[in-house]
Amino acid sequence: MTVRTRFAPSPTGFMHIGNLRTGLYTYLYARKHNGTFILRIEDTDQERKVEGAVEAIYRTLKIAGMSYDEGPDKDGGYGPYVQTERMGLYKEYAEKLVELGGAYYCFCDKERLQSIVDDNGLHTYDKHCRNIPLEEAKARVAAGEPYVIRQKVPEGVVSSYTDLVFGEISVASEDIEDGVLLKSDGLPTYNFANVVDDHLMGITHVMRGIEYLSSTPKYNLIYDAFGWERPTYIHLTTIMKDAQRKLSKRYGDANFEDFVAKGYLPEAIVNYIALLGWCPKSNQEKMTIDEMVEQFDVDGLSKSPAIFDEAKMRWLNGEYLKAMTPEEFYTVSLPYIMKSKAGGKFNDYEISRLMQTRVDVLSDIPDKIDFLVDFDEYDINMYVHQKMKVDFNVAKQALKVAFDAMSNLDDWTEDALKECMKSSAEAGGMKGGQVMFSVRVALTGQPSTPGGAVEMAVVLGKEESMRRLAFSIDYLNREAQ
Ligand code: GLU
Repeated sequence: MTVRTRFAPSPTGFMHIGNLRTGLYTYLYARKHNGTFILRIEDTDQERKVEGAVEAIYRTLKIAGMSYDEGPDKDGGYGPYVQTERMGLYKEYAEKLVELGGAYYCFCDKERLQSIVDDNGLHTYDKHCRNIPLEEAKARVAAGEPYVIRQKVPEGVVSSYTDLVFGEISVASEDIEDGVLLKSDGLPTYNFANVVDDHLMGITHVMRGIEYLSSTPKYNLIYDAFGWERPTYIHLTTIMKDAQRKLSKRYGDANFEDFVAKGYLPEAIVNYIALLGWCPKSNQEKMTIDEMVEQFDVDGLSKSPAIFDEAKMRWLNGEYLKAMTPEEFYTVSLPYIMKSKAGGKFNDYEISRLMQTRVDVLSDIPDKIDFLVDFDEYDINMYVHQKMKVDFNVAKQALKVAFDAMSNLDDWTEDALKECMKSSAEAGGMKGGQVMFSVRVALTGQPSTPGGAVEMAVVLGKEESMRRLAFSIDYLNREAQ
């Protein structure tokens, strides 16, 4: 059997982390089994449709590296892949189901439906139209009477199936409503469309959120009534924001593109969400999407809810950043360096090198480097450091020897600068640390900085470093008599 899976997002908002995880697992399952991964857009709920959401689905799958084999723009012979383009089909199949005895026409109006209240206070349909003879119902339809088509749930049966994660799920037919399959406007409900589409698209494995776990027996009864083979089901555990609350679209940050905009790498997000409810046998945490394909296994899918932990995603993102080559990191970090006041003023490449091991998320960069331009407002007492044995006099002397040596240095590299500061310290009868400390304060005006004197000098470049050293020497001479 060739595995065919589908990801069926609804364009009702931007790509939520939970949805993307469903898509990812579906993709991994298909790839793992050399199957086909299909994208289907479930847009029958036009009221909930959000402008731009379809485009966000395409964009997200592309950035996330989840390429589909069939979809709206990739015909594989099972299209159309957008539900609103399949409208005729649903009506045709709903009518077929009526003929097969699995559904019936219902003419109850809104008022009547509102007036029905079951023992639980719900408006559960009371099967009022279930026994209208088919010929009579057809005549009423032909006469133009408004109608819906409802599922004729067999009575007195228990509908069961085995979910590959949650095991056996059974629902008694008395607990299943004769729900609407085709609405009065001729549009299908999700309950009907998902069955028709999955069957016609030859879907063998349905992976979706746990919220569908207990509705699936109802869908299976539709498969059975048509005489269609049921697919295999794999329901996925909930993602929680914390112990009590579900991660929801309303939790503003839970969408993929927002995380990308916040400076997370798409591959790190994908990696992190893969682990939300799936544990590879190897327990490996950082892995490429190809490694995930290799290791993906339904046995590793969890039944218990997964907690979305942004701190952990930050950590993982940091691991991805550190693993990049300096050139790759420069490319991804430059837009964030340019967001800082310091961007474009000094050596951006050296700034990126400095940041590579110091941030977990790219959007942390601007705040971390703004200090490079806030140089001249500083507190002279910063030069006093007991442990380093630096006071004003030592600092003055240190800056003087460093200034002389550095102004003669042409090779403005880390190694050469280190050597230069060390030897100038020796020549002046001081410790290397005393010179480096004084130079770092003089170059930055900060009590602490990411990187020491050498890194700061490289970032600032020779001209700006010498200007700051001269300024600081002057300042110290003036202020610390
Ligand atoms: N359109 C449904 C959703 O976004 C998909 C459910 C399914 O995969 O069947 O929740």
